[in-house]
Amino acid sequence: MVSTLESEEAMTDGGEQDSRDRMRRDWIGIRSSSGPLGPWPFGVTVVAIAAALVVALVLYPVTGIEDVDLVFLAAIIAIAIRYGLWPSLVACVLSALAYNFFFIPPFHTFAVANPANIARLFFFLVVAIITSHLASRARDAALTAASRAETTEALYAFSRKIAGIVTLDDLLWATGQQIASMLMLDVVILLPDAAGKLEVKAAYPPNGHIDGIDTAAARLAWEKSRSEERGTEALFTDQHPFLPLRTSHGPVGVVGVSRTGAPLSPGEERLLAALIDQAAVAIERIRLATDMDAARLATETERLRSALLSSLSHDLKTPLASITGAATSLRQYGELYDAAAREELAATIQGEAERLSRFVANLLDMTRLKAGGIALKREPIDLGEAVGAALQRMQGVLREHQVVVDLPPGLPMLDLDVVLFEQVLVNLLDNAAKYSPPGSRIAISANGNERKVELTVSDEGPGIPAGDLERVFEMFHRVNKGDRQRAGTGLGLSICRGFVEILGGMVQATNRLDGPGAVFTITFPKSVFTAMPREDAAE
Ligand code: ADP
Repeated sequence: MVSTLESEEAMTDGGEQDSRDRMRRDWIGIRSSSGPLGPWPFGVTVVAIAAALVVALVLYPVTGIEDVDLVFLAAIIAIAIRYGLWPSLVACVLSALAYNFFFIPPFHTFAVANPANIARLFFFLVVAIITSHLASRARDAALTAASRAETTEALYAFSRKIAGIVTLDDLLWATGQQIASMLMLDVVILLPDAAGKLEVKAAYPPNGHIDGIDTAAARLAWEKSRSEERGTEALFTDQHPFLPLRTSHGPVGVVGVSRTGAPLSPGEERLLAALIDQAAVAIERIRLATDMDAARLATETERLRSALLSSLSHDLKTPLASITGAATSLRQYGELYDAAAREELAATIQGEAERLSRFVANLLDMTRLKAGGIALKREPIDLGEAVGAALQRMQGVLREHQVVVDLPPGLPMLDLDVVLFEQVLVNLLDNAAKYSPPGSRIAISANGNERKVELTVSDEGPGIPAGDLERVFEMFHRVNKGDRQRAGTGLGLSICRGFVEILGGMVQATNRLDGPGAVFTITFPKSVFTAMPREDAAE
């Protein structure tokens, strides 16, 4: 199915601890324990027993026969711990032969004259075999414990690693890489596409692919896992090495593995199943998070939709009712009114129509903003002129307020889209007039230095509660929802922010420090200056 893995490169990361574990496993021979023994352990056994013989020959004249068997036993235990049962049994036989040949009279023959020595030899062999058996069992237990600890550690590291992954692609890749590195396998992960057809989503090595037979096997495993409530092991055979990725809501895909050489041991199969289970849980977590995001988006869309509908019904109906009322009065009873009353009705019609047109403009602007379809037409503009033009447009709305403009001379020209910028000012002025009492002051001021220019619009209304200072820029957020006599869409400020940001600046809301009232500050950085500020620029 796929090419061979570089085992060293594939080992899990984690410096010193890993290399210490590897040394420990190497010493107790974990690598040889999984496959058949080579000639090496037996060669070492022969050498070790020969060395024990030399030591025994040296000690024999000093200590006598009593301590000679201990020397051989020590060698046998060492072999059992190092290489396991079979080499240690060979060591037992070799030791018994050497013991007989060199230390039991008649010397240098395998014959035994004294029956007491036959018993001695027999018990030596029994003790040697029991000892080697016990030592090799202790070794196996140590190996099993070491490999379990290693597996648990690796599984834990894997679960920690995938806990931080947020996208499905990253997760599948990490899973493939982990399985490949821990089990020395080639891995492909297949998930169904929208049409339900399985496709390879991740592979390790990355260029891994599956051919026709494997595709059929994968499909079979997938179909089986969908149609049957069975454990993962049931589908794992050598012919079709594909395991389903099962979540609590059913299978989500299949994992295919292959290895040239030895098939998986039961322990390795268990490890593979554990890794796949962990990956399946993580896939489920990511899917749930995606579903939740989609649900949140749907709720938000629904909220915006109903806000828009209620805003539409209110903000279209109120001015339309005023216009219809005024127009009807004019037509039916026009001759009964004096000139001043007629003028007032006409002004109402004009004012409300203008309000409607601002409302529609806001809606259109918001649509364009959301669609990202605003083409900027930048040109050098003078702040004073832009403010003048906005005030001119808002004359009617501001007629009951005292407007104070304070723009110091020497402000730099700004490279802005005049239509958009004027719309920002219009929206801020509209709010200032709407949310502050008639007769109060609305101030427009600016200051600038060589790094930035700030323009503020402040009023003497109630201001904005601290918790809403940021939220007022959200779509449809209105501080006082019950306060419906002030018609509004909750779109004005979000459009302001959208436009100002497109133009390269930022806009913030604060409250006045010297009394009640809101302050909106637009800041443009140096990057939108068309010329450096002059010497007399205000600081
Ligand atoms: P709208 O004015 O149509 O409701 P905006 O997006 O322009 O929508 O404003 C959002 C909310 O911010 C307003 O509903 C109001 O509660 C608050 N707000 C805006 N400007 C001011 C201001 N100058 N003074 C007090 N509150 C304001």
